[in-house]
Amino acid sequence: MDMPLTITTVMRHAEMYHGDREVVSATSEQDVQRASYSDVFRRARKLFNALQALGCQPGDRIATLAWNHQQHLELYYGVICGGYVLHTINPRLFDDQVAYIINHADDKWLFIDHDFVPLLERLRPQLNNVKGIVVIEPDDDLPENLFTNVHSYEDLLSGQDDNCAWPELDEFSACAMCYTSGTTGNPKGVLYSHRSLLLHTLSVSLLDTDGLGLNDVILPLVPMFHVNAWGLPFRAPLVGARIVFPNRYMGNPQVVSKLIAQESVTYGVSVPTIWQWLLDHLDQTGGNLKTLRKAVVGGAATPLSLFERFRDDYGVELTQGWGMTELCSAGTLNVPGPDFDSMNEADRKQYPLKQGRPIFGLEVKITDDEDNALPWDGATAGHLKVKGPTVCESYFGGTEAETGVDANGWFTTGDVATIDPDGTIQVTDRSKDLIKSGGEWISSIELENWAMTHPAIAEAAVISAAHDKWTERPLLIAVKKPDQTISKQDLLAWFDGKIARWWTPDDVIFVEQLPYTATGKISKLSLREQYGDYLIMGSGG
Ligand code: ADP
Repeated sequence: MDMPLTITTVMRHAEMYHGDREVVSATSEQDVQRASYSDVFRRARKLFNALQALGCQPGDRIATLAWNHQQHLELYYGVICGGYVLHTINPRLFDDQVAYIINHADDKWLFIDHDFVPLLERLRPQLNNVKGIVVIEPDDDLPENLFTNVHSYEDLLSGQDDNCAWPELDEFSACAMCYTSGTTGNPKGVLYSHRSLLLHTLSVSLLDTDGLGLNDVILPLVPMFHVNAWGLPFRAPLVGARIVFPNRYMGNPQVVSKLIAQESVTYGVSVPTIWQWLLDHLDQTGGNLKTLRKAVVGGAATPLSLFERFRDDYGVELTQGWGMTELCSAGTLNVPGPDFDSMNEADRKQYPLKQGRPIFGLEVKITDDEDNALPWDGATAGHLKVKGPTVCESYFGGTEAETGVDANGWFTTGDVATIDPDGTIQVTDRSKDLIKSGGEWISSIELENWAMTHPAIAEAAVISAAHDKWTERPLLIAVKKPDQTISKQDLLAWFDGKIARWWTPDDVIFVEQLPYTATGKISKLSLREQYGDYLIMGSGG
């Protein structure tokens, strides 16, 4: 039968077969609120009725500035299945960037957590097209004068019928959008179709990718404004897993560890930093992760020590995934195959550092600077390009030059990688972070990985620094673990025998902390701005 592949089908399926499964949201550091998927979808219908009453038109962008909680899930379905476009905004971007994307997306209504009222107060003079705001929580203390229309979320829903006729939608119609963090230039908008999100949801849920099911209890420790919490708000209802939302407490390891134990969480996803904080907390408090079956890490390069700590100290398999805003989220997941057990010990040990094999539907290739395809030999690094039904074709409102897609339909990811004969990719750099020393590439990620295997080093970033003779050379910027001492010379000597000698960084700078971007990644751009001339200015900068 000709039925469109829409996110509405996920809702219908979950409502029919998983309606009683639980949606848990932290409401404070101590308390949680419980609902079922049926409750969520009933309230999503009220929301759709309310959006119609507000005069929203099909395709309108409805934006959120909100943490991970039940009401945000209601917005996901009420907006998307209602035929509007859900624009989840990252509030950690610079003020000017947030104002830029609200205007660029032409957001009509903003649904915000009360936490973000001060942000909107600052941005208000720049926002001329927004019709009004809806404050999700709490009901009182509404910023009445901020916009002509200011509503409380609960009041908005309370007057509405919980029945509605969901529109029949075209699977190719837009349903959600996210902006990339725009480390260079303005953020770029990625618009998702129903079809692309549904195919991503199905592909990632296969057993040899992420394999979630009815018996899982899922904890999204990535914000719902970071690439749709990596698709979990669609995947959990599809398979009927319980979902536990940490609200604003993602970076609070006390709350997170309590939620994991109390709700018997079996599966969680996050970026390396958040996982590291959690393990540090558990180390200090003697806590455990007994219920956790699997954890996924992605979004940035992850040190080997994190995989080892998960496995050796907590008995949990930490799986690496690689993805992008432009790919609906995941592009690859590193699930060991039948060959894993027969690998030699050194390869097995390094295996978690790979980003894994592509999800169903994603084609990959690597090329040199002239776009010639390079071999899948696990050694040759090239520009990673992808194509598939979950890949963004062009940026929202962008010029043709900005699409990143070539005439043959390949999207340039901006990452540099090797590919094994079986299609397993390993990211060695971002193109813009590449170090080209005397014309040859040096992998900053590999150097960082080795630096972080040193017991005295907590964090490391390697940047390309200008050099008189070689044009560029690697410069290591490192954070020591508390109470550890180590000299530059000792750290550089640590690389001996581990990498080609000419890859060894030219110098080391110890810092108290590294700068981070709005999505929690080390900001190499800031480091390059600060230390890019360090080697030509002489030691000490
Ligand atoms: P932003 O740049 O806004 O944070 P994304 O979340 O889309 O946007 O970032 C995608 C990029 O993150 C990828 O192109 C890659 O450079 C990096 N990345 C994602 N996952 C991994 C991973 N597992 N290992 C190394 N880098 C990763």
